[in-house]
Amino acid sequence: MSRLWEPKTIREVLGRHGFHFSKALGQNFLINPGVCPRMAQESGASDCAGVIEVGPGLGVLTWELAQVARKVVAIELDRRLFPVLEETLADCPNVEVVQGDVLKLDLRALVEEKFGGEEVCVCANLPYYITSPVILRLLEEELPLKSLTVMVQKEAAQRLCAAPGEKGCGAVSVAVHYHSAPQLLFGVSRGSFMPPPKVDSAVIRLDLRREPPVSVEDEGWFFRVSRAAFAQRRKTAANSLSASLRLPKPQVEAALAAAGIAPNARAEELSLEQFAALSQTLAKPAGGEV
Ligand code: SAM
Repeated sequence: MSRLWEPKTIREVLGRHGFHFSKALGQNFLINPGVCPRMAQESGASDCAGVIEVGPGLGVLTWELAQVARKVVAIELDRRLFPVLEETLADCPNVEVVQGDVLKLDLRALVEEKFGGEEVCVCANLPYYITSPVILRLLEEELPLKSLTVMVQKEAAQRLCAAPGEKGCGAVSVAVHYHSAPQLLFGVSRGSFMPPPKVDSAVIRLDLRREPPVSVEDEGWFFRVSRAAFAQRRKTAANSLSASLRLPKPQVEAALAAAGIAPNARAEELSLEQFAALSQTLAKPAGGEV
């Protein structure tokens, strides 16, 4: 169904199915006609084996993706939307809706079964309550993914795209830049949704890297070190690392010095290369996760 972004059409569809929005599931549906065609275009969906969408909602973005992609597989948690999607996507034979939680589904098996393991794109207006876990899962699982084109809250977009060492970066920025080349594509005002959320949004695209930009011996330890450095943002990286990893401060200071990092540097000031160097010079504490 085209023109699914029209508030009048949405009210009619919702009324026919007796559907009420779930705030807990982050259900803010797009009503801005310009956003979905642009997302579908920027996602590069036409150049992949197909596209995976997370959270089709009423199917407004799904419908646009179906116009440009060979095949669309949309993962939706809310079963109540299935009869709605059957109606709104009746004219899209290349769409399949799968019921499930994107954080729990076996995505490798899904790509294998639906796309023969070929490289696919992801395009989604993400439910805001799971933005980072979804993005991190998609980046870290070494799935055959070309890119993620996702709408997230504006602040999250800035944090995700900030390069390590840049103002506003965080541990998630380290993970994003390690696995992908991110870019902020365009902003979307809160008035573009029904019901309107309290904050503005933005669309970002993360192009997955075939090789990480820095080489690290132990990826798990590298990410643990970066998370620990950011754990107590107002402290210096040395204090935050020492407290979070329960390591003696002199040992952390020696590792920082050996990695060429100033003793009073904050995590926000460290580049990806410096995090990589630090994960080599800082010895992993014996025992399990701290
Ligand atoms: N794509 C639609 C649009 O742009 O109008 C809806 C986007 S809405 C922000 C997020 C969608 O994600 C909702 O349909 C919601 O039910 C679904 N959702 C929430 N949590 C989910 C999860 N864990 N797994 C899959 N879908 C989920």
